[in-house]
Amino acid sequence: MQLYATATNCQAGRADWVYLSPHLDDVVFSCGGRVALQVRAGMTVWVVTACAGGPEGPLSDFARALHEYWGLADTDAPAARREEDRAALALLGAEPVHWGFLDCIYRRAPDGRALYTSYEALWGPVADEDEGMLEELTCRIAELPSSATLCVPLGVGRHVDHRLVRQAAERTGRPLVYYEDYPYAGEAGRVEETLGEGDWEPEVVILDEAALEAKIAAARCYRSQITSFWADEADLVAHFRAYATEVGGGNPAERYWRKVAG
Ligand SMILES: [Zn+2]
Repeated sequence: MQLYATATNCQAGRADWVYLSPHLDDVVFSCGGRVALQVRAGMTVWVVTACAGGPEGPLSDFARALHEYWGLADTDAPAARREEDRAALALLGAEPVHWGFLDCIYRRAPDGRALYTSYEALWGPVADEDEGMLEELTCRIAELPSSATLCVPLGVGRHVDHRLVRQAAERTGRPLVYYEDYPYAGEAGRVEETLGEGDWEPEVVILDEAALEAKIAAARCYRSQITSFWADEADLVAHFRAYATEVGGGNPAERYWRKVAG
């Protein structure tokens, strides 16, 4: 598997917090404010994106359509997205680590068949062929610095890659902090539905204006992804502010969850 990790953040390095991002954008959209606060407090923060790899061979029709929608049809889309991520994390002062797993839209079965070929499939069952990826992902996560707190997606929205990252992190047996996958978490009832019956303890992290602004500025770096979720940049800003204020009960905040040992 290809690795895109940068020199300063090889696996043997030191980190206080490691955030796992299924895709190039999830952690900044969901946790950018806390990352900004932690960096300001002097912590070393890594944002590890699992599915940052580039596909070899032809794209499926679905992947090609998404590239066009993102405005990346005539370019190396994963490379362009890694560049967006580097720009966003530079604003926050966090270290990007890019792993070479493929986004589900690029993954194929051994016989060459594309595994996920529609929007519905992104939120449907995880393909049996992804078991190998799950195992490898588990090994990679287990190798992350043991001193770091691991922060992983809850899988709100049920995107297959988000569920795989959560499952792999859980298989390592390490203690985990879970974040609410935004913007999926902004839909009424989705977080509660994902938490389900388990015992969870919330942690609300209040953001000051500088941290919220840093988060929004970083989120705007993911230019290719904005129209997937928002009408335009102004709409993005309005939604980020509204959700942060809702979560904090009037003060901008992000909410995290830990499982209560039962
Ligand atoms: Zn994602």
